[in-house]
Amino acid sequence: MTRRLRVSVDYERCTGVGACEQVCPEVFFMRDDGLPEVLEPEPHETLWAAVERAEDACPDEAVILEWVDEEGPA
Ligand code: SF4
Repeated sequence: MTRRLRVSVDYERCTGVGACEQVCPEVFFMRDDGLPEVLEPEPHETLWAAVERAEDACPDEAVILEWVDEEGPA
């Protein structure tokens, strides 16, 4: 079983506070228009803890995390 994490931003909710980039700049990048871009939509597991901290830090609950379990060779 392989586990992957998919990261996205709900732009309907995001108000461009930028906490996500401060907490996890490897994955979130604030664009010139004031909204974050997800640089790594499926980040390596070494970044999962930082991405979860970014989710916690977002005041608008706009960081969306989806866990995907896949069957496959171990
Ligand atoms: S912390 Fe949340 S509200 Fe702020 S820019 Fe990131 S996703 Fe948007």
